[in-house]
Amino acid sequence: MYASTRLLTSDLVEATIGELKGTLGDQESFDYVVVGGGTGGNTIAYRLAEAGFSVAVIERGLSYEVGEPIVGAAPLGDIIGVGSNPLDSIPTVDFGLATEPQAGADGRKIHYTQGKCLGGSSALNFLIYHRPDKGSLKIWADAVGDESYEFDALLPYFKKSITFTPPNNNARPANATPVYYESDFTSNQENAPVQVSYANWSPSWSSWAAKGFEALGIKLTGAFNQGTLSGYHYSQLTTKPKDQVRSTSADFLYHAKDKGTKVN
Ligand SMILES: Cc1cc2nc3c(=O)[nH]c(=O)nc-3n(C[C@H](O)[C@H](O)[C@H](O)COP(=O)(O)OP(=O)(O)OC[C@H]3O[C@@H](n4cnc5c(N)ncnc54)[C@H](O)[C@@H]3O)c2cc1C
Repeated sequence: MYASTRLLTSDLVEATIGELKGTLGDQESFDYVVVGGGTGGNTIAYRLAEAGFSVAVIERGLSYEVGEPIVGAAPLGDIIGVGSNPLDSIPTVDFGLATEPQAGADGRKIHYTQGKCLGGSSALNFLIYHRPDKGSLKIWADAVGDESYEFDALLPYFKKSITFTPPNNNARPANATPVYYESDFTSNQENAPVQVSYANWSPSWSSWAAKGFEALGIKLTGAFNQGTLSGYHYSQLTTKPKDQVRSTSADFLYHAKDKGTKVN
């Protein structure tokens, strides 16, 4: 059984994923319509299509590669357009929201970045790949009376969305070698959509930050993705190891397209 995932852009131009062609006014029905091609939406759409349903994703924005050329895909571009000043926003990829004036911030309105593009906020975020901790998921599971929300139950699903590539320690500075447990990232899912790896560089201050953490009694850990967010480490990043550009939740849809838009 085949299912097709299609992208339906908000101006009602229907297009197969990744393409900008289609017929205005065409009628088509789908088993599911997912509104919002961001982190949650793309994941759900991909899994539904994989389970054999036909799915349409309706996304309000553009592709981030178009809306924020070059810097959108470049990891260091993540600091552009996300500052606290509401004017520090890129309207082609950001909804440009701001808080009410904050008494604790001298009455300023604070910019609240939210991705308005395929990939959603995962196209604008800081690329840090972290899982929630066991305690917070336990609170959630207890609140809804469903232990399938606990960390151990969710772990296989965290793993099956990512392809992990170990750091290129030849490219990284010698004193910036990450510690991690490869088994935290491996699953029987080959070639999963979202790429998780490490940058081929490290800021010069990071080894000094490590000394500072140690001085404060904060310990180096390789277990950040085992449900315990305590300690310090070099973060895994949602970055494509081949060219070091950003990987986002849009990769679920690109992945489906690479499979010929057919997922069985
Ligand atoms: C600046 C910044 C840095 C961050 N850094 C990190 C980090 O390093 N690591 C980390 O894990 N998390 C980080 N986050 C948080 C993380 O990216 C978000 O929590 C996550 O992407 C939210 O997923 P979501 O599915 O809830 O929403 P989104 O990914 O934002 O998706 C919502 C989607 O819905 C679309 N949409 C909205 N309204 C409509 C509509 N009416 N019709 C159609 N489409 C619509 C939007 O355009 C968007 O694509 C960061 C977030 C920001 C903003």
